[in-house]
Formats: sequence, structure tokens, C-alpha cells
Amino acid sequence: MKKLIIANWKCNPKTLAEAKRLFNNVKKTKAVICPPFVYLTEFNYKFLGAQNCHWEESGPYTGEVSPKMLKDLGVKYVIIGHSERRTYFYETDETINKKLKAALGAGLIPVLCIGEKKGEDANLVVENQLSHDLNGISEKDRDKIIIAYEPVWAIGTGDFCSKNKAKEVLEFIKRKFNNKILYGGSVNSKITRDYTEAGFDGLLVGGASLDVKEFINIVKNV
Ligand code: PEP
Repeated sequence: MKKLIIANWKCNPKTLAEAKRLFNNVKKTKAVICPPFVYLTEFNYKFLGAQNCHWEESGPYTGEVSPKMLKDLGVKYVIIGHSERRTYFYETDETINKKLKAALGAGLIPVLCIGEKKGEDANLVVENQLSHDLNGISEKDRDKIIIAYEPVWAIGTGDFCSKNKAKEVLEFIKRKFNNKILYGGSVNSKITRDYTEAGFDGLLVGGASLDVKEFINIVKNV
């Protein structure tokens, strides 16, 4: 099966000119690209994703962007529940659940991020997050969600999760869910193959997706 690579640009690059340059250099990879909201309309691309969305279609929610608006722009994927949003923007499993339902309702493919903090039991945390985040979502809809296992301690730290540990968590999730499952957390081109060999369906790449050469190598190496 073809592996899915998703680039999460986070709050980067700083200017539209740089974003265009980066996009033009990586679009040939056909990876899913998730730029900041403000750059979305600049890219006419089949595999465009957003990094977040609101749970309502429209209304008095200053600063928010709805799944319907994203869909209307031609966006296909939306990252939901990224650990940076859970940490810095206080997103809870309850709001993540609402966002998942809204994204599915608008016809977007959600990429649900789950994972433990340092010292926490990975299986316990992902089980708990999945049961809350997916609460009340029909099995048919649930199957459309891509799950990204991203240990919080591995995100942006250079301290990636070992192949064996990641495989353990992957197999734990797979016991209950048939979804596509990605790994994310300090992925670089040297360790890319570890995760696909472990059985992951692809990768969610943050920092390394801003480095053209490195990102192209990641895509080549899966
Ligand atoms: C991410 O932002 O989802 C991520 C995995 O970041 P990084 O690759 O920088 O750890």
C-alpha cells in the first residue's frame, strides 16, 4: 500500500514568498501539505490540508475557521488535536470530538493526533484519548479518520520514538481500530523506513517538512 506522508508546516514560513518557494519545491512529492490558514488559497493542489478547524459552520466565533470554509477552498485534510493545540490552546478531548464530527460532516478527512507525554503510559493514554475523541462517531465515519500516533515528548525534540516502542503502540491501537495509522515525532530521512517497516501507514512530519532536501528524502525513503 502506498504510504501517506503529511507535512505539518505549523506556524511557518514567515512570509508568503517563502511559503510559495517551499511549496513549489515540494509539490512534486504529492505529499499532503498543511500550511497555515492564510496560505491555503495560494496553492492549487490536490493534497492540501489545514492544521485545525472550528466545530461550527459559521457564527460569532472570532478568529475561527470552519470545516465548511476549508472544504469550499478545496482543502481535503484537517489535522485535529495536535499536541501543540492541546497544550498551548487548551484543546480538550471534548472539543476535539466536536471538531472531528464537524470535519467529517463537511467531507474533510480528519487526521487525529494522539500520544502520551513523557513518563505516561502510552497505551493507557492513547486508549483514553481515542475513546473520548471518537465518542459518538459512527463506525462508518470513524473509519475515515486517519490516526497519527505522536508521542508528545518526541515532537520537535529530535528525540524520536524507537521502532520497537512505536510498533508496540501501533499494534495496541490496531487491536481495536482498522484506521490508517501514521507515526509522527522528530522524523528525519534516516529513520523514515523504521516506521513503515514497523507497519505504520505513513508519517506526519513537522520540522523536517520545512527543509526541501530532507523532506524529499523522507518521501523517497518510505
Ligand atoms: C508534528 O508537528 O506533528 C511533528 C511530528 O513535528 P516534528 O516532526 O517536528 O517532531
